[in-house]
Amino acid sequence: MIERNLTQEEVDALPFELNLSDGHAFRPWTRAESDIIADSARFFRESDRRGGQEAEAEYIRRYLALGSQSYVPEYFTGLMSYSASMAVEIVANLLRLRGLSAALIEPCFDNIADILQRHRIPLQPIPETALTDGPAALERLLGTLTADVIFLVSPNNPTGTVVGKEAFTRIVDYCRTENKLLVLDGCFRVYLSADEVYDHYGILAASGIDCVVIEDTGKVWPAAELKAPFLCVSPRLVSAVVGMHSDFLLHLSPFTVRLITEFVGLAEADGGRYLRELVVRNRALFQSTVPGSFLRPDDTGKLGLAWLKVEVDGLDGEDVRKLLALRGVHVLSGERFYWWSPYLGRKHLRLALLRDPDVVHRAAEVIADLGAELAVGRSRS
Ligand SMILES: *Cc1c(COP(=O)(O)O)cnc(C)c1O
Repeated sequence: MIERNLTQEEVDALPFELNLSDGHAFRPWTRAESDIIADSARFFRESDRRGGQEAEAEYIRRYLALGSQSYVPEYFTGLMSYSASMAVEIVANLLRLRGLSAALIEPCFDNIADILQRHRIPLQPIPETALTDGPAALERLLGTLTADVIFLVSPNNPTGTVVGKEAFTRIVDYCRTENKLLVLDGCFRVYLSADEVYDHYGILAASGIDCVVIEDTGKVWPAAELKAPFLCVSPRLVSAVVGMHSDFLLHLSPFTVRLITEFVGLAEADGGRYLRELVVRNRALFQSTVPGSFLRPDDTGKLGLAWLKVEVDGLDGEDVRKLLALRGVHVLSGERFYWWSPYLGRKHLRLALLRDPDVVHRAAEVIADLGAELAVGRSRS
């Protein structure tokens, strides 16, 4: 049997109501968001591809500013993409053509490792802990790295782990002195509050290293899967990447860029707080319903995702996933996030929280009932 990847499981879960499987934004619109949707026919009529390039640059500048990032057009070339994964595909092509190997963070969403491996990029894992356990742990990691490219996801999916400013600055410096290429997937940055973010783009541009930064909006705004991902490419990589990018895309729909820019405008008004608040609310709802003695939160609590450890002896994440699917609740189990050492994820589950609070609440009740049944079963045996 061919093993199915996480996205295939997410596709299977799409028809179900209690679907906490994919991490895409699938929550009710706020009133202000509804007003934008109501206006969207006008955006459609007004969209004019002649103004597309300015609109894209304006969107990129404002999206980055929302995440406290410098807009440095003299260093970074921004290229729109249909999906963040298409940006990863472009990076993978670049690495293959240049014969480069990569060190990739673990855990991470499986499609990143799958895409790189499909291009036969030799991979080496970077355990998250090496990035968060302080300077000595980071130096140990850097001492063992042999890969040409460092590929980070921060905040990371599924754990929400953030590569802090000190560690990031050290890694960038390492790339500069060792002539390595850095790839950063920052798709979840908007979920960090102002005191948790720092200026990736400013640090990268000042260093002069070769780098690609990948951004996405699909995990942020519920726009019926319309999204405006992009990648930002440093000067020496531009000619190679632009040619490849143009093989995939003439330009993104100006309607989509306008719609997402309008959503960015809403978040600008309160620094993105309302985006984080729904996640905080759903997380609290979940944790007040499902006891930590059954599923213990094992993440930073920042993303619209919960990464949970199954606290029942003899029961793995995949066992719980199957039991929940029989009860109509769809989640992912953890093994495939550990693309190098799957056993490290075997006790984990990932649940999406970017959902209607009512869906989260009802799913949590089903999950709590299962936890209670399992506890009763064990005390009897
Ligand atoms: C979901 C995700 C992607 C892929 O995004 P798509 O636009 O759905 O292809 C890339 N990186 C991270 C960190 C993600 O969570």
